[in-house]
Amino acid sequence: MSENREGAGPFVIVCDHGSNRIPEEYEASGYAAAALETHIAWDPGALGVARHLSVRLDAPLIWPDASRLIIDCNRPQDADSLIVTESEGRPVPANRAMDDAERARRLADIHGPYHAAIDACLARRHDAGLETTLVAIHSFAPVYLGKARPWQVGIVFDDDRRVADVLLDGLRADPALCVGANEPYSPADLVYYTVGRHARPSGLPATMVEIRNDEIRSDSAQQGWANRLAALLAPAAPPTTRFESCMP
Ligand SMILES: [Zn+2]
Repeated sequence: MSENREGAGPFVIVCDHGSNRIPEEYEASGYAAAALETHIAWDPGALGVARHLSVRLDAPLIWPDASRLIIDCNRPQDADSLIVTESEGRPVPANRAMDDAERARRLADIHGPYHAAIDACLARRHDAGLETTLVAIHSFAPVYLGKARPWQVGIVFDDDRRVADVLLDGLRADPALCVGANEPYSPADLVYYTVGRHARPSGLPATMVEIRNDEIRSDSAQQGWANRLAALLAPAAPPTTRFESCMP
């Protein structure tokens, strides 16, 4: 799915876990309805923030229209966590009987088209001479495996810190916020797949924002976070210095 495809601002926003939709062909497969309201199915509130941010920054927004219980679009194709059989201790029985053909079908139907849409958007903008900074919006659960998480927001980054540092500095200026740097997740958790895949090869500035989902339960709260992020991101837009990766 996408919105504001022709947005000409300097950002592209992706929301890997924005949807908890179970596509029709999987409805009978036993994905428990209750699980669909929790973070194991999606990132609650993240798409709302991403939508408001897309408007504020005139940025194209792209997300897959399927729950990550079907396939996690923010995982490498060969990752064990691409299609989970359990999440946070809860079994996902509908994924237990996964064979290679079904795995290939989900890759072809959901994972592939999502990443192709991002590729197409970035290629179109490159051809149009538009600079792009890639921003991924996620949310995380306030308590995970019984442990409370103190951060209201976390910025996830690899060795390209251009955008991450702008956000970290700006957010840390608010004494009311506990800001995570590569917390509660970091690229070592494989959560940087989408950003790394699309930004790294062409050296696009990029970062990933994780907002604790109790911060973004209502539309107005989502708008508030979008406004806060937009105010920090907008001045960080290109011209940016070209990133010379120190990775091979
Ligand atoms: Zn997520």
